[in-house]
Amino acid sequence: MLKRNPKQDVDDEFGYAADALGMDPDDMRRLGHKVVDLVVDRLMRKNAEPAIITGEPAALMAALGGLLPESPLDADESLELLAEVALAYQQHGDHPRYFARVPGPSSFAAVLGEWMGTGFNTISASWGGGSGPATVELVVIEWLRQMIGMPQGTEGVLLSGGSIANVTAFLAARAELGRGVSYYTDQTHSSLHRDLVAMGCIDEHMHKMPSDDTYRMSIETLRQAVAADKAAGLRPVMVIATAGTTNTGAADPLQEIADLCERENMWFHVDAAYGGPAAITAQGRRYLRGMERADSIVLDPHKWLFQPYDLGICMVTRPGALEKCYAMSPEYLKDVQATTGAVNFGNRSLELTRRSRALKLWMSLRTYGAERFRAAVQRGNELAEFAERQIRNHPETWDLVTPAQIGVVTFAFRDWRPGEHAAATKTVTDSGFACVSSTMLRDRSVLRLCTINPLTTEADIVETIERLAQARPS
Ligand SMILES: *Cc1c(COP(=O)(O)O)cnc(C)c1O
Repeated sequence: MLKRNPKQDVDDEFGYAADALGMDPDDMRRLGHKVVDLVVDRLMRKNAEPAIITGEPAALMAALGGLLPESPLDADESLELLAEVALAYQQHGDHPRYFARVPGPSSFAAVLGEWMGTGFNTISASWGGGSGPATVELVVIEWLRQMIGMPQGTEGVLLSGGSIANVTAFLAARAELGRGVSYYTDQTHSSLHRDLVAMGCIDEHMHKMPSDDTYRMSIETLRQAVAADKAAGLRPVMVIATAGTTNTGAADPLQEIADLCERENMWFHVDAAYGGPAAITAQGRRYLRGMERADSIVLDPHKWLFQPYDLGICMVTRPGALEKCYAMSPEYLKDVQATTGAVNFGNRSLELTRRSRALKLWMSLRTYGAERFRAAVQRGNELAEFAERQIRNHPETWDLVTPAQIGVVTFAFRDWRPGEHAAATKTVTDSGFACVSSTMLRDRSVLRLCTINPLTTEADIVETIERLAQARPS
């Protein structure tokens, strides 16, 4: 039997102050409770606040900066300053009318997990130094694997987000297959191109292809690109598919890409940073079929799995590929190396000293249960479908550009003129009522709603679309 809360048999009273810099326990408790109140107070009133507030550099610097504090300042006052200024002037991605880019609807049980990890100063680098948190990380990766339907034996590592998780997979792919050409499209998230550049890819190893009329990778274009590169003496090594683009929610033809990768002996990477969580619902699973055949896949639970920032996951289905790329065993880590069956997470990415990002996901999955997650994600799918119907019902005002696809819908003013979409989003966003954004689909400007917050109501969507229509410059 595992012993809970193992303690050494020594006298508890050593006379240490409770923290390294001398705060006493009464202050810790009082200030800690105050933090809880500040956080819950904001959660209760967030609907009544603007969805985004951006400050002026000089005013913010004046409020938050000043001389280096040589002696203590009042901690109550500092917490209030954080709540009222530093943390007020930002996008409130958990606001029910925050529809811009990708919202961040967090959940409180996840926040509690995050606080526990920080409070216990948790480290998840080696088994010897962090066997408890490493186990929690193994558990949540396994739970998530089951929820999205990846094959048994899939391994993973938790990271800060999609940008880092994707390059973590790319480097593992390169360690397996060597250098060569990677294929992606004009709809691939721009951070992935940056990842490839950062890892030293030369121009001819980054083959960006035009997407098709529905903003998906064309399997025909891919076939031709691979054939042409081979004829030119290059070595195709990886296809980077997107399962839910940030722009439109489009999913590349994952089955066909998987087939081609199998035939050509290429690594099949799926960037599902935005869309992957949709696969926990039946509708999303159908939409993203083929994702489970990936060699590596990336998800961002800080987008659509109700986790506070930051949390990305890199999963790899080739056993041992992460360790093969990242394992190191220097002399000063010898006494914390793994015993059989244990994992050193410091050997699965470029991060060695790392906090446990697993605790929040573990807390929230246990507290709410997977069923509640599925219902909340499905609600996001349905809200986008509702928004699509609203657009279709007003053809005198709107053109639908791309239909509701896992939480994203794009549309345009009928006979739009350049600058109109940006002007309308600015008017509505500046009013504080909602935060909306426009984007470019190749050379076409569109308005876009991302509806993944389950707190959003149908009335929120009706009113936001109505206000966008009224904000059209005349
Ligand atoms: C958000 C996103 C990324 C980048 O992830 P970060 O967490 O912002 O680093 C990559 N790909 C897709 C599809 C995304 O939506």
